[in-house]
Amino acid sequence: MTALTERLAQTGLQLPELITGYQDGADLPADEGATALPLYYPGTGEQIARLQEDDASQIAGAISAATARFRAGDWSRAPVSERQQVFRSAARAIREQSEALGLAECLFAGLPSAHLATRQVPRAADNFDFFADYIGQMAGETFEQLPGYRTVVTRQAAGVAGLYAPWNAPLALSSMQIASCIAFGNSCVVKPSEYTPLSVLLMVKILESCGLPSGVINIVNGRGSETGAALAAAPGIDRIAFTGGGDTARRIMASAAQHLTPVHFELGGKSANIVFDDADLERAVDGSLVNIFSNSGQICIAGSRILVQRQVADAFTEQFIARTRNLVVGDPLNPGTEVGPMAFAAHRDRVLAHIDRAIADGAQLLCGGEATTQGGSGYFVAPTVLAVDSNDLPICQDEVFGPVVTIQTFDSDEDAWRLANASRYGLVGYCWTERLDRALAFQQRVDAGTLWINTSLARDLRAPFGGFKESGIGRDGPRQAADFFTEEKATITALEKTPLRKLGLSENS
Ligand code: NAD
Repeated sequence: MTALTERLAQTGLQLPELITGYQDGADLPADEGATALPLYYPGTGEQIARLQEDDASQIAGAISAATARFRAGDWSRAPVSERQQVFRSAARAIREQSEALGLAECLFAGLPSAHLATRQVPRAADNFDFFADYIGQMAGETFEQLPGYRTVVTRQAAGVAGLYAPWNAPLALSSMQIASCIAFGNSCVVKPSEYTPLSVLLMVKILESCGLPSGVINIVNGRGSETGAALAAAPGIDRIAFTGGGDTARRIMASAAQHLTPVHFELGGKSANIVFDDADLERAVDGSLVNIFSNSGQICIAGSRILVQRQVADAFTEQFIARTRNLVVGDPLNPGTEVGPMAFAAHRDRVLAHIDRAIADGAQLLCGGEATTQGGSGYFVAPTVLAVDSNDLPICQDEVFGPVVTIQTFDSDEDAWRLANASRYGLVGYCWTERLDRALAFQQRVDAGTLWINTSLARDLRAPFGGFKESGIGRDGPRQAADFFTEEKATITALEKTPLRKLGLSENS
């Protein structure tokens, strides 16, 4: 723990021994009778904290704190300029505290610390700045076609939202959910992943230190099957936004149906990364490595199915494997680490089981394929490349969510579109080509919510993000968030004493 103790001292991060829920601006007290889940640093497997699990009574408390704050109106009806000010100062504070937040993220999620400082923590700050700008530009609608009347359409915050975050990028993803939700005046109950509760808690405390009223954001903690399921079933939730796996989404949707609660789902992917014979091969190799090995492969937008055209397949594969073998797998606290561990031991075992099954199914192992101690004693899986000749294999259909990629050769452009779309997912797609007609055809033919042509992972926050098919329901994005997290109201006003039917004046009655 020496390196860790040193880093804690450098960043000033206080690592609590017990992490508890957070309601109405206060940590819940420790409860001897409650379940406490051990939390481990994925880089070494050492226990670093415990998480107190919340049950239905704490969930009811969190919903009631959120509801009381919503009804009080000091956030839900606050002037836009006040909400903007809180968001902007929170964005500044997140950037100022990026070392401590990045360390919290690294310790629980095992994400390489170098990526955190430059990408994920700044992204959380950007989300608050972005929504501060957006709410300053929102306008209602007015209709005046009906003579004598004016119809005005306004939006009103929906109420209390349940927000579920996954463990693979807790800060970046929960900040997007929270900013999209509370920007419009809503309150919320956040359910972080049971593996990564700390960074979200720290971010909420930063927001409150910047003026967010207590009770606007409340946190409940615990396993998905317990706390997560109880939150989805609880009354008093007006919206549910969920980022995670499809099976969990199905369960949440079934619970939400009992209350007719609208849901927004950002789910998994099995995205194609197509390399054509005319591609700039060096860029295609660079980009394909980034697309699969970022966050150690634990990203929903992973380009986990490489489809490469036959003429360049050997050259591409040779370079791709050489670079994969050369990736620096290591302790995520080490700034030179390119691929860190899996976030928890059971997930490492799941990833290894996918690889074993693929090999048993006939996939050819080109490199990796096993747990490795190259990075230390934590939950490491060697970056793995498998050659396949059928897209029907489970390894090409199921999301692995780890540093595992398949390479399949194709002949015609039609084959590429067919293979790319032969998936129950449709989150993103990647294409490497120098030909305009191919790039345009890729854009038209591939069924996915985001398409990247000759580039990797760049994202404009103004654009929608979300998936076709089993990759989700709805989209992240400013207009999309306004649609989901607000109710529209049409108000009709008579501009003059317009004629009214006179009922109840009949002499026969
Ligand atoms: P998960 O579905 O296991 O968990 C997500 C959240 O739901 C966690 O907070 C968890 O505790 C909770 N949960 C689990 N079971 C539950 C239940 N029965 N009822 C209610 N809540 C429950 O997902 P994960 O393993 O944390 O995350 C990985 C998945 O998330 C992958 O499929 C990945 O593709 C997806 N993901 C999607 C996006 C996107 O934007 N589309 C982004 C990141 C991750």
